[in-house]
Amino acid sequence: MKTGKIVKVSGPLVVAKDMDEANIYDVVKVGEKGLIGEIIEMRGDRASIQVYEETSGLGPGDPVVTTGEPLSVELGPGLMESMFDGIQRPLDAIRAIAGNFLTKGVNVSPLDRKRKWDFVPTAKVGDVVSYGVAIGTVKETTVITQTIMVPKGIEGTITSITAGEYTVEEVIAEVKTEDGIKQITLMQKWPVRRGRPYAEKLNPVEPLVTGQRVIDTFFPVTKGGTACVPGPFGSGKTVVQHQFAKWADAEIVVYIGCGERGNEMTDVLNEFPELKDPKTGESLMKRTVLIANTSNMPVAAREASVYTGITIAEYFRDMGFAVALMADSTSRWAEALREMSGRLEEMPGDEGYPAYLGSRVADFYERSGKVVCVGDDKRIGAITVIGAVSPPGGDLSEPVTQATLRIVKVFWGLDAQLAYRRHFPSINWLDSYSLYMDQLAPWMDENVAQDWTKIRVQAMTILQEEAKLDEIVRLVGVDALSEKDRLKLEVAKSIREDYLQQNAFHEVDTFTSLSKQYKMLKLVLAFHVEGEKALIAGVYLKEILNMKVRDKIARAKYIPETEMSKIDDIYTALSTDIEKLITEGGVVND
Ligand code: ADP
Ligand code: MG
Repeated sequence: MKTGKIVKVSGPLVVAKDMDEANIYDVVKVGEKGLIGEIIEMRGDRASIQVYEETSGLGPGDPVVTTGEPLSVELGPGLMESMFDGIQRPLDAIRAIAGNFLTKGVNVSPLDRKRKWDFVPTAKVGDVVSYGVAIGTVKETTVITQTIMVPKGIEGTITSITAGEYTVEEVIAEVKTEDGIKQITLMQKWPVRRGRPYAEKLNPVEPLVTGQRVIDTFFPVTKGGTACVPGPFGSGKTVVQHQFAKWADAEIVVYIGCGERGNEMTDVLNEFPELKDPKTGESLMKRTVLIANTSNMPVAAREASVYTGITIAEYFRDMGFAVALMADSTSRWAEALREMSGRLEEMPGDEGYPAYLGSRVADFYERSGKVVCVGDDKRIGAITVIGAVSPPGGDLSEPVTQATLRIVKVFWGLDAQLAYRRHFPSINWLDSYSLYMDQLAPWMDENVAQDWTKIRVQAMTILQEEAKLDEIVRLVGVDALSEKDRLKLEVAKSIREDYLQQNAFHEVDTFTSLSKQYKMLKLVLAFHVEGEKALIAGVYLKEILNMKVRDKIARAKYIPETEMSKIDDIYTALSTDIEKLITEGGVVND
């Protein structure tokens, strides 16, 4: 293989000549140390290479050799509990070899080569298999069992398959194909920039339940759907993403961190292993893969990280898992794209982002979805993609937010004002939307409560009317409002404070099941119905608003899931107290 020569180094971009034997998207080794890079543009024999490591010290004349292979990830047992950088180098192993900072050219295998896994075959000799067919399992962690699938390019009859303890490189089965015997190991490779195939895409009709009230009730996302969380600095993007990782009813979590602040990723690396999985009581890492780009890592690795993450997500989807993938923040990824584009001297588009920003964003989100997997047993898997976006100054008209909004179906708009008032999650209920609402309605009405959609619409209507009434109050003062409207404003306040506000750090409040959400919202709305009844019967608004039961309504969020009948008790107390007000005409103080 011919060796190319560097002609130019510009930050993470290296241009090399004599590269005519290489192809675009080949992984190359750059310089004497063999830094890892990827060809992102070919012109004649000149290759433009984005280098995934610090390029200082490289200079013209230094050698470049292609590996002839595209940037790929290793897929197999050992992914769970791992923390990787943007090109799937295990952070622990790198640290162990090179200390806390990444040393250039360190070559560590993504998956542990020594560890043995207990392979249990489900296929047998004589079975005819092809890509995607499940042939066995490996219990990877206490909570996740991987399905071992036939890798791409192997089709034929199994001639040997044996249970036992294997490393990821040892042969677990052999298949007689048209081109002779092929061997299968626990590990397979996949090029990250190409989506893994599926048999059929399905319409996602099931919610990804998150336990976050404002999301599940008003702006739900589906298993297999897409959502984005744009918001300015400090508005709660990272907390939302962490809440998802912890609470969403996905089986697998892939978390891609593109560090915003210097120490933010270090925090994630330290915090994630400490997070308890509420479902199993074990570490959340038992079903999580973490991909971390600290801000001291080169920008190119950030560019690659979202593809590394989504490919790993697809691999678990292909086993039939529901996967949730979080990317925090995709703006950092887009900025990496912009930097590389600038160095390539491409024609800049909006705000310096390349013209292909929109299609890159779309390509990424389109790898989400609920699918029938390739194989012979019609496994169904799903990837939900949730991307945080950090628009500079919170300005949603900027290119990354706009490109994202064109493709995702759910928009959770974080609001600096709400965050400032400590209304968390600071999702603006008037601006946000979920295009899945209609398609989820039947599922919700069937699985949560018949009148789920009805009360959800009622609550949202009150919030929208509040905005209009607020306008009137601003112009002519609250006295201009009827008692009925003033009651409505109180109910809206109760929806906001007693229902939508949810403390991620409170033991009980951090998660609310759908059935508790239903009971809580119903209770808040019951106060409206009962209050109006009392008003009509001649009770003063002040007396209705002073009812002691309102404190209980406000505290319903702290009632544990196991004591939910207490919410029914509040409901009963509310009716009784209103009855008393109407018949006795006095203030109820119990
Ligand atoms: P961003 O990622 O948008 O910069 P963070 O997610 O780091 O913002 O949130 C900033 C701070 O806001 C958090 O440290 C926390 O104090 C507060 N916060 C955000 N969301 C919540 C929540 N749901 N419950 C309680 N506090 C929250
Ligand atoms: Mg953040």
